[in-house]
Amino acid sequence: MKTIIEPFRIKMVEPIKLTTREQRAQFMQAANYNPFLLRAEDVVIDLLTDSGTSAMSAEAWGAMMRGDESYAGARSWYRFRDTVKDIFGFEQVIPTHQGRAAESILFGVMVNADSIVPNNTHFDTTRANIEFNHGTALDLPCAEASDLESDYPFKGNMDIAALEKLVAAEGPERIPLIMVTVTNNSGGGQPVSMANIREISRIARGAGIPFYIDACRFAENGHFIKRREAEFKDVSSIDIAREMFSYADGCTMSAKKDAFANIGGFLCTNDADLAHRERNILILTEGFPTYGGLAGRDLEAIAVGLREILDEDYLDYRLLSTRYVVEHLRELGIPVVVPAGGHAVYLDARRFLPHIEPLQYPGQSLAVELYLEAGVRGVEIGTVMFGSDPHTGEEKPARLDLVRLAIPRRVYTQSHMDYVVEGINLVWERRKDIRGMRIVKAPQFLRHFTAVFDWI
Ligand SMILES: *Cc1c(COP(=O)(O)O)cnc(C)c1O
Repeated sequence: MKTIIEPFRIKMVEPIKLTTREQRAQFMQAANYNPFLLRAEDVVIDLLTDSGTSAMSAEAWGAMMRGDESYAGARSWYRFRDTVKDIFGFEQVIPTHQGRAAESILFGVMVNADSIVPNNTHFDTTRANIEFNHGTALDLPCAEASDLESDYPFKGNMDIAALEKLVAAEGPERIPLIMVTVTNNSGGGQPVSMANIREISRIARGAGIPFYIDACRFAENGHFIKRREAEFKDVSSIDIAREMFSYADGCTMSAKKDAFANIGGFLCTNDADLAHRERNILILTEGFPTYGGLAGRDLEAIAVGLREILDEDYLDYRLLSTRYVVEHLRELGIPVVVPAGGHAVYLDARRFLPHIEPLQYPGQSLAVELYLEAGVRGVEIGTVMFGSDPHTGEEKPARLDLVRLAIPRRVYTQSHMDYVVEGINLVWERRKDIRGMRIVKAPQFLRHFTAVFDWI
């Protein structure tokens, strides 16, 4: 069969409210031209994030009913811990309420004002948590990452030569850990190869620096490895995951991504002393070490989701359905990051709106216009998100100005995606009339979440 189908049946539905252009104009104005401030019910197709928005399975909902809500040592904790250990292989597992709580604890223990933390590309909360601890978050993406039109298969890779140089210059005195984000979310949802992970690990171990994986989309990354790295074509997804983590000393994870859960996360390490210090903070900020800010039922849902995400029919469908949107946009001549990443489609706002300069936020304009046109909600990943120095307040253009349309897992069908493609094309056809934006008001950290905008 040539037709690729969603490998699931729909058992429960949630109605979508359809809106008119006039209504959307009012909603967007009331939201100060910041899609984060819209009411979700006023959005037709919500591609703001794939985080916590997945559809859970009947199995996961069933497991939630048996959640053990005991304060300490609950059955659900052991189920969660054993699943994480089985797939990720780390000795110490620390549950948190989401990924950023794991980051906050990790960097709170490891980072100070002298620290430099390299990553292929830091995700926004990762960067903010390092900067909050007065450290420097350094992005070392591979050179191929900046060519948005090349079909290089592992554009999420880290620049190994740059990492080697940094490690030689600064050493473990200034580099408390090296991170790599799989897939590279802020860099376009592009995968990192196993070869690259091995190289990073070799450098880290050679210098005695701990190596951590930001594991949010580990299963999607693993499936790209399976499909693109010949050595892995017959290796199961769980074994690819196990090998990937075997090269690392720990990880941070948001269960809201590749665990199909609506909430949750964890922090892992093989270092028992470090885990002891991390648990002390955990008790202060999240909760007792056997639930860490989660209900027993959440731990159950994550334990089920971590197994389901490794299903290869699901992963095939996942990568193909993202590629479906990218290929259709490409056929229409719309500037989109290629090759398709795992969880999202990234429009290149600088090429989409070349008449709007980066400090007039072409990505923000495009995200707003997409909502006005079709009720589709995406998010700017560019100068609004990364262009302001939190210490000095100084502004400069981010490396890229993208609009991310993240695809929730198992939520939308192909006809929803056809609608999205048509909406983007309608904006594309009238792109010359679109104006830039300015920031009226913004906070110091993570300004994109709450900033107030207006048209120029
Ligand atoms: C979502 C995400 C995080 C943070 O996780 P939360 O659960 O949203 O706090 C960290 N890193 C990456 C790559 C992510 O995608």
